[in-house]
Amino acid sequence: MTASGTAGLEAAVVNTVSPGEKVLVLVTGAFGERFAKICDNHKLNVIRHDVEWGKAVSPDIVRKYAEKHPNIKAVFATFCETSTGVLNPIQDLAEAVHTHTDGLFIVDGVSAIGGADVKMDDWGIDVLLTGSQKAMMLPPGLCFIAVSPTAWNVIEKNSARPFYLDLVKYRDKLADDSTPFTPGLSLLMGLEQVLNRINNEGLEQVFNRHLLMKEMTRAAFRAMDIPLLASDEDASPTVTAVQPKNFDPDAMRKLLKAEFGLDLAGGQQHMKGDIFRIGHMGYCSPANVLQTISLIEIGVQKISGETETATGTKAAQKTYLEWM
Ligand SMILES: *Cc1c(COP(=O)(O)O)cnc(C)c1O
Repeated sequence: MTASGTAGLEAAVVNTVSPGEKVLVLVTGAFGERFAKICDNHKLNVIRHDVEWGKAVSPDIVRKYAEKHPNIKAVFATFCETSTGVLNPIQDLAEAVHTHTDGLFIVDGVSAIGGADVKMDDWGIDVLLTGSQKAMMLPPGLCFIAVSPTAWNVIEKNSARPFYLDLVKYRDKLADDSTPFTPGLSLLMGLEQVLNRINNEGLEQVFNRHLLMKEMTRAAFRAMDIPLLASDEDASPTVTAVQPKNFDPDAMRKLLKAEFGLDLAGGQQHMKGDIFRIGHMGYCSPANVLQTISLIEIGVQKISGETETATGTKAAQKTYLEWM
């Protein structure tokens, strides 16, 4: 679809469930919250489970809600919670959803797909969506949605599907290699190129490279003694959130932007001024990670005067050299 990622979230909601129906939304940060807001907006009966920002959701939770609420039509989750750098355990969540409910399992994969391994069919994801501008390496403007046979059955029976976001229209037109509305054609041409690029590198190696970049980044901050927001177990291969105690992350971001043109993301909502985030997805390479760490060390040195430079770079280099 020619639209940003959020349209994918909205399409996933409004095609599959109808006003009044009960849904469970697992909220681990700003993007889980967006799913909850879309569900509220669609007048669903929303059961919302909030997890402390920086932590992954536990699959056990699904059973607890399912016991209390027999009629859950869909469970919504975020694969990579971009606001915190957490990768939720989607495979285990899918199993819990299908064991304890008859509902669909719907996943926002916007900052994960293209960087984190996913087995939609094997794991039992019913709707999986992503956007063009994160790990898919394109400018913004496209979103992609994959739908399971079970979910298609539900969607086809929905008599109040939206107009532009009607997934059945897109599926039917796809059979003629076409789209129901004017496509973002230049982006589709770019898409062919990035898919070739992913193919040439090899999907397994793409995922391996993202895991390596995660480990390099985390090793660097551990060595610098600057706290990471997410635990090793919960950490995403595509984005790392850092929660410094001894300096203002926004002051450092500002300095790095001004001196080097390096863009680091800040915290969202209540984490504003508390964390900074490093995106290491898509076009990023281990070389970019080394450069970023090295620049951050200059920033930290200038802002706090505390860390000896090259400590983090050295740890990241070591991780790189030891990576199999
Ligand atoms: C970026 C992002 C979105 C929103 O996508 P837009 O293209 O900005 O509409 C949704 N979910 C996640 C996890 C994201 O990272």
